[in-house]
Amino acid sequence: MKSDVLSMFPEELGELCVSLGQPKYRGKQIFEGLYKGNRDFSEFTSLPKVFRDKLSELSFIPTADIKRKLVSAIDGTVKYLYTLHDGETVESVFMRYHHGNTMCISTQVGCRMGCAFCASTKAGLVRSLNPSEMLLQILEAERDLGERVSNIVLMGMGEPLDNYDNVIKFLRLVNHEGGLNIGLRHISLSTCGLVDKIDKLALEGLPVTLSISLHAPNDEIRKQTMPIANKWSIKELLSACKRYIDKTGRRISFEYALISGVNDTKDHAHELGKLLTGMICHVNIIPVNPIKEKNFQESEKNNIKVFTETLETYKINVTVRRKLGADINASCGQLRAEDKKL
Ligand code: SAH
Repeated sequence: MKSDVLSMFPEELGELCVSLGQPKYRGKQIFEGLYKGNRDFSEFTSLPKVFRDKLSELSFIPTADIKRKLVSAIDGTVKYLYTLHDGETVESVFMRYHHGNTMCISTQVGCRMGCAFCASTKAGLVRSLNPSEMLLQILEAERDLGERVSNIVLMGMGEPLDNYDNVIKFLRLVNHEGGLNIGLRHISLSTCGLVDKIDKLALEGLPVTLSISLHAPNDEIRKQTMPIANKWSIKELLSACKRYIDKTGRRISFEYALISGVNDTKDHAHELGKLLTGMICHVNIIPVNPIKEKNFQESEKNNIKVFTETLETYKINVTVRRKLGADINASCGQLRAEDKKL
């Protein structure tokens, strides 16, 4: 199997060079060339021609070609559908916030977590992405727009902790000073709550913000929409969150999609408030994005207001997520599903 050079650190590329009879420093040259946008070995003009030929025999530079690009007329949010080297497609979203440009990227093609409200999981998991394929979503958007990305959210298609090793390598690569050099504190990793992997992540020494997709104030409601709730209870999930906070000193973010008639009453807000009391956390309220063929409806404006105010009485930091790209199906998985007619 050919090795994927964009998923490698300069040191690993250096070893590859040495194994091919070249000096180690060539690894750094390759690394830098990749981040300058070289997508074919012929573009590495500082490398000897015979070596370039050898490299293309033994390795490859993965690509992500823009298949579709939608620009929101409301707020300029850009949604990309990329075609990967094997023809699979993934989506990413570029958003402009006052604190900088944020890119929401996918970690898998499809997803096997099965959340009832989510478009990404409709046809299950196709495959996990390599670190390079996560990087490419950012690199190609930066190239296309001529703008830099300063923040990343792993909130596109897929469950990041179900693709653990590749996601960890991606985080270290994207943070590399010779590469994109994006600060780990500017990166949020969102999970539906794989408790064992949260504990593992806490030990990696990566100060990313952990975002938990909670979406329910109790196990009974959570089980109605999130199959993962059958594996781990909210109690077990929150204990893992506490251990994560203790180990990393980082505050946790909880995502809570308000679904009309499911989890959006004042009582639910009280239940959630009690549950999270004493946690160093932040709650992100998201009006659910209704997706095709699913019957979930967004909560009424007033319900959102009452829910938020009730939660705030528990001294919990709450924000209602501003909806970007509402006109371009900006929620994860929607564009790919439409393109594949899922
Ligand atoms: N698998 C990860 C990350 C991907 S989804 C996770 O579960 O966190 C990113 C966020 O969008 C999650 O909080 C997810 O629950 C939420 N989400 C998915 N579909 C949605 C929809 N239709 N409306 C609102 N939020 C949705």
